[in-house]
Amino acid sequence: MPTLISDIKVIATAPEGINLLVVKVETNQPGLVGYGCATFAYRHLAVKCLIEEYLRPLLIGRDAEAIEELWQLMHQNAYWRNGPIENNAISGIDMALWDIKGRMAGMPLYQLFGGKCREGVPIYRHADGRDIGELCANIQKYLDLGITHVRCQNGGYGGGGFGDAPARTPERAPKGVYLDPHKYMRDTVKMFEEVRRRIGFEVELVHDVHERLKPVDAIRFARQLEPFELFFLEDAIALEDGDWLRQLRDKTTIPLAQGELFNHPFEWRTLITERLIDFVRVHLSQVGGITPARKLQIFAEQFGVRTAWHGPGDMSPMAHAANIHIDLAARNFGVQEWSGIEPPNFVIQALNGPRGALLDVFPGLPEFRQGHVYANDRPGLGVELDEREAAKYPCSSGVTTWTQTRLMDGSLQTP
Ligand code: MG
Repeated sequence: MPTLISDIKVIATAPEGINLLVVKVETNQPGLVGYGCATFAYRHLAVKCLIEEYLRPLLIGRDAEAIEELWQLMHQNAYWRNGPIENNAISGIDMALWDIKGRMAGMPLYQLFGGKCREGVPIYRHADGRDIGELCANIQKYLDLGITHVRCQNGGYGGGGFGDAPARTPERAPKGVYLDPHKYMRDTVKMFEEVRRRIGFEVELVHDVHERLKPVDAIRFARQLEPFELFFLEDAIALEDGDWLRQLRDKTTIPLAQGELFNHPFEWRTLITERLIDFVRVHLSQVGGITPARKLQIFAEQFGVRTAWHGPGDMSPMAHAANIHIDLAARNFGVQEWSGIEPPNFVIQALNGPRGALLDVFPGLPEFRQGHVYANDRPGLGVELDEREAAKYPCSSGVTTWTQTRLMDGSLQTP
């Protein structure tokens, strides 16, 4: 009997206060379901609507095993293609179909990708602090846990928290996250001088510009950071300024990682074929799920570009697990961003206080041990969803403030 899609459900839940969107694909086979991540934290209702009103009727009754066919069907069905809302919706179903495929095979997904190239996945964690002492203490906590790569930031990305405009902005400048680019650059260079002096060179360090510099400033900044031997500099150039990567590449030896905002192969193809970046770090649900991410990973391998998939808090454990399964099987894997969904009584309580709710909602996460993350070796993605627990943590739909980033003249700067 063919395995057919019998229903598709969308579960919105925020066990840590971040809107997560999970898709459950049900089949005509008893007990056979799959889960995927469709999280677009700041537009979750739009993605939910697209899945429930358009993709669900399109897919019910179709062959759940035909992942490539269904991916293209979803992608082409609205005639106008692509974009974050569509790609996240497709991703939720795509990951769920891969989850079903693994459960049918009785294998963890990395086995379907060719098997493991490595036993565990090295990760990088994010460290910041209000001053250098707090930052170094936070770095040391990660080192004590065996973590090998740490991203270091001076407070928030590029600027302070959301609030009133600083005094030297024009009259009537709106509230926002204000950025003084040159001060940020000076402060960050000083930060790395001090971090390397106190912590040494044994740990791999990363820094995220988060697209908050103009290209010519990014070039100067990259050169200033060269003495600190970063593992990579993250998103130094904004997506829209991608052509500047040629100039940046020509002028610095610092390894470059780009791409958490990418959502179409046109955005990464030339960067990879011309070897303008060292690490491609797309957000799996933003590009449409496991199917396009695997194609990208294999494509990048041909050009010596490594992966460093985006792994922030605003993605569900299904997406974290998808990252880990691809990482385990990818010869050109670099490092994995990890936002901390380790089991309780270990890292979570040591670093973040009690955060048991995520584990109540999502039993069966990838496993963190001594600096590395391991797949849990259950079939498929290996993550379940407790819908009764999920219902206890409703999502919210307020106006997003942290993306309202402004320069000192009050104009908007990409966040
Ligand atoms: Mg980033």
